[in-house]
Amino acid sequence: MLTTVSAGPVSVRGISVGGIYTALQVPELGVLLDAGAAPRSFAGPDRLFLSHGHADHAGSLASLLGVRALVGKTKPLRVHLPAEIESDVEDAVAAASRLQGHKLGIRPVPMNPGDEAPVGSGLCARAFRTHHPVPSLGYAFVRRVKKLRPAYSGLSGGEIRERRRRGEDALLFAVEERTELAYATDTLVGVLDREPALYKARVLIIECTFLDERKPPRVARAGCHIHLDEILDRASHFDNEAIVLMHFSQTYKPAEVHEILARRCPAPLRDRVVAFAPGAGDWPG
Ligand SMILES: [Zn+2]
Ligand SMILES: [Zn+2]
Repeated sequence: MLTTVSAGPVSVRGISVGGIYTALQVPELGVLLDAGAAPRSFAGPDRLFLSHGHADHAGSLASLLGVRALVGKTKPLRVHLPAEIESDVEDAVAAASRLQGHKLGIRPVPMNPGDEAPVGSGLCARAFRTHHPVPSLGYAFVRRVKKLRPAYSGLSGGEIRERRRRGEDALLFAVEERTELAYATDTLVGVLDREPALYKARVLIIECTFLDERKPPRVARAGCHIHLDEILDRASHFDNEAIVLMHFSQTYKPAEVHEILARRCPAPLRDRVVAFAPGAGDWPG
């Protein structure tokens, strides 16, 4: 039922069909991205990032909490979400708790564009604005790395330790930011123009709901989604190690998705594009 793909240093597993369900897991980062389905194996991570409240992205939150309770996870799931939908999600979880007959716990982490939240292992998640008819966010997972400034590269280990002891860290080291992963779904393509840092993320997971002339770009834009034409218009901008395209419309069978991307993506992009779709057969479910 689940698809797993390798994308640079991480793997992405889960399920994603535009308008039906999107629920992804990145095991290396210990995070879930959206909860439009609640596969059994998604009970592990303690952090969920909701892009927005549409049912195909958030509709299975109660099921996910139920699965966690069933396997004995007592820690409330930390749910990062657009601040505007916090109370609605809490209301929904409260109603689900009443229906369940016991409390389904979440710890909401409301976020606005630019907000950061620690994710563990030296990573933090930074929210950015996506463009959809309802409140929505994308998330960039950023690692800050201290690098010795070139001017001090001649210092010995002992000298560096001594100067650090004297509190000269800021002088000695520059802090570099590296975006390990960015996630942008259910959005106009303008998100790429307004957040050019997405082109530099090591791994970019981005929606590409429509792929050819059967649904032209104007149809994609009317629903606040991205068309492959719009990605190809920007092909030379992508510096990512891997670009995971997902949230494909069920207009296309999985094999067609692979065929269209292989045919339409120019070589430098094709080598890095990963289609988040089963290798053959139909979409799950
Ligand atoms: Zn969607
Ligand atoms: Zn949506």
